[in-house]
Amino acid sequence: MTRILHRSIGPDLPRAVSGQGVYITDAAGRRYIDGSGGAAVTSIGHGNAEVLEAMRAQMDRIAYAHTSFFTTDAAESLADRLVELAPEGLDYVYLVSGGSEAVEAALKMARQYCVEIGQPQRRHIIARRQSYHGNTIGALATGGNAWRRAQFQPILPETHHVSPCYAWRDQRPDETAQDYAARLAQELEDKILELGADQVIAFVAEPVVGATLGAVPAVEGYFRRIREVCDRYGVLLILDEVMCGMGRTGTIFAHEQEGVVPDIVTVAKGLGGGYQPIGAVLLSAKIYDAFRDGSGLFQHGHTYIGHPVAAAAAGKVVEIMTRPGMMDNVQAMGLRLREGLKAALGEHPNIGDIRGRGLFCGVELVADRDSKQPLDPGLKTHAKIKREAMARGLMCYPMGGTIDGIRGDHVLLAPPYIIQPDEVDQIVDRLAAAI
Ligand code: PMP
Repeated sequence: MTRILHRSIGPDLPRAVSGQGVYITDAAGRRYIDGSGGAAVTSIGHGNAEVLEAMRAQMDRIAYAHTSFFTTDAAESLADRLVELAPEGLDYVYLVSGGSEAVEAALKMARQYCVEIGQPQRRHIIARRQSYHGNTIGALATGGNAWRRAQFQPILPETHHVSPCYAWRDQRPDETAQDYAARLAQELEDKILELGADQVIAFVAEPVVGATLGAVPAVEGYFRRIREVCDRYGVLLILDEVMCGMGRTGTIFAHEQEGVVPDIVTVAKGLGGGYQPIGAVLLSAKIYDAFRDGSGLFQHGHTYIGHPVAAAAAGKVVEIMTRPGMMDNVQAMGLRLREGLKAALGEHPNIGDIRGRGLFCGVELVADRDSKQPLDPGLKTHAKIKREAMARGLMCYPMGGTIDGIRGDHVLLAPPYIIQPDEVDQIVDRLAAAI
């Protein structure tokens, strides 16, 4: 009998015993193609010897040094590299142990910044409906996923939510992308004014929405309009790239494709590539300087921040993902994946949309293509697709978004960046068969 409390209590799970490249093998010797990168985690593939060597070398030197006493080369050089890779305007890095921790740190950083600059009255966070930003209480409160929040209501801290940018569902037939972006920016502005022009700390959004909507990019110009509104009211823009960042969409940072400079960016998952639990918060000099010139302290911290072995692993993962050709492969294989899925499933009466960016791809399931109602607002379809895919040796990530508070259906695909054409085609064949 297992003594582990897994996330879902129920069916026995296969036991993973080894991972190599894009494959995981279980104890029964069955091989699964990692079509979802776990949950968009496995960026450079499993079993990479260079990463293992970097971790071993770091452990040989020192495995742990508390950040109140020491800094380390591993943490410093990872921070330097992330700043080098980020678009201009993100100048400092705070290292954490995962995505929720990154979002939590970002929220506290934003709040403390307001205090440091003499605007302690700012106390509201605005995010978007149907969003997921993590499971710790602040991150959960920020997320607008009604289903995940339900058991924890009334939730602290209180946050506010506006519409996501979800053109396939919400852009009106007579509306251009520009007008749609303007309408959503207006909605954010109205929400800020409702709360008070100088009362809002930050607006939080994923550049490409992962878990809750299934790889939905914003329409052209949306984030530029949002940035303008934030600037007008001194609201910080926090972009959550925990899932879509670190090369997943074909550029190291997803927001590189949006032409905006955020104040804070969170990354995790693909940063450690599954080798170590790690996340990072990138912040602008404006925020760093306010802390330096103010209290001289970021009032936040965990025991394992800046963990040297995690930083060494991530440093190597980042080195590998930035080698020539890797992002080209993400773009090319992503295109092949979407084209393959469209050819195999595009006419299926229960497939509403196939979209994404880079190797971040979503397939939306609908009851019928006209009404766009979810195929199954419960969880049965998810479980069934996952089971049927696993039986065919494919890991995919079927999930529910929340459409007006009910779970909708989609399947997320996010394989490792090293994937080859024949492996992409296998994902397509197996998912089509499972569906
Ligand atoms: N933000 C986003 C956008 C995410 O997708 C996730 C995880 N799915 C998180 C935050 C939380 O990350 P973690 O599970 O590492 O805590």
